[in-house]
Parts: sequence; structure tokens; C-alpha cells
Amino acid sequence: MTRESLTSTALERAEKHCKEQGSKLTDKRRQVLSGLLASEKALSAYELSDFCRTELGHNILPMSVYRILEFLEEQNLVHRLNLANKYVACSHIACEHEHRLPQFLICTSCHRVEEVSLPSSVMSSIEGGAKTAGYHLARNQLELECICSDCPA
Ligand SMILES: [Zn+2]
Ligand SMILES: [Zn+2]
Ligand SMILES: [Zn+2]
Repeated sequence: MTRESLTSTALERAEKHCKEQGSKLTDKRRQVLSGLLASEKALSAYELSDFCRTELGHNILPMSVYRILEFLEEQNLVHRLNLANKYVACSHIACEHEHRLPQFLICTSCHRVEEVSLPSSVMSSIEGGAKTAGYHLARNQLELECICSDCPA
């Protein structure tokens, strides 16, 4: 599948998903999501607003982009990276399988982000370790700083 057809499949699925949840993928929401899908990078609301204007010709103010991203995050269509306070499109929008707990590998050099699912045993070890220290996990999303295979190590 080409990237374009992948994006349009993802948008179709996203639309269907919103409908099933009793909400709607409005034009603006669709534009924001397609911007993030096209960027292939983690972007802040400001950066995404810029990207939508310069690359796609959609004028959406950063505040609106931010609100839309919050909506899309609730729908599990985008994910927020705490470390960078940026957003990435979910890599599984076009997939049929159930969405699992997302973890992220973030290249600190080119900022490429990979959504991965670590084995649940990894998460339970971390949870166990925190518990032993008297903590509980407030958010079980791991964001690991890495160097990707395209960047010199
Ligand atoms: Zn995801
Ligand atoms: Zn998938
Ligand atoms: Zn890289």
C-alpha cells in the first residue's frame, strides 16, 4: 500500500470509529488528523497548525488544533508524548486488531517516533518495582529516548 492510500484508509477508519463512539470526525478534525498522519513526526499543536497551513493549505489556529488533538487523543487516534509535549498519529488506525497499550521509542536525533507494544510482563515488572518503592504508576506509557537505525549511533 502506498502512503497516500494508507492515509485515506486511516481517515476512513477514524471516521467510522468516531461514529461508533457517538461522535463525529468533522472537517477540521479530519484536517488535523491528516496533517499529523502526513507529518510522520511528533508535532506540538503550534507546529501542527503551521504544517497544516504550509503543507495542506488549511488554516486552523493553534488553540483549535490543541482542542482537536485532545478530542483525537480521547478517541485513541493520536497519542500525546509527555516527554516532548507533542502528538503523534496512532500507527494502528488502519488496523483491525485491538489497540494495545502504546509505548514509544523516540529518536533523540531525528525525532522519529515508533509506537510499539512491549510485552505485558515488562509493564508488570515496572509496576511491581514502583509498588515496592511505595509508588503507583499514574500513567503507564513508556517513552524511551533512543537513536533510530537511520541516524549515526
Ligand atoms: Zn496507537
Ligand atoms: Zn496495528
Ligand atoms: Zn533518528
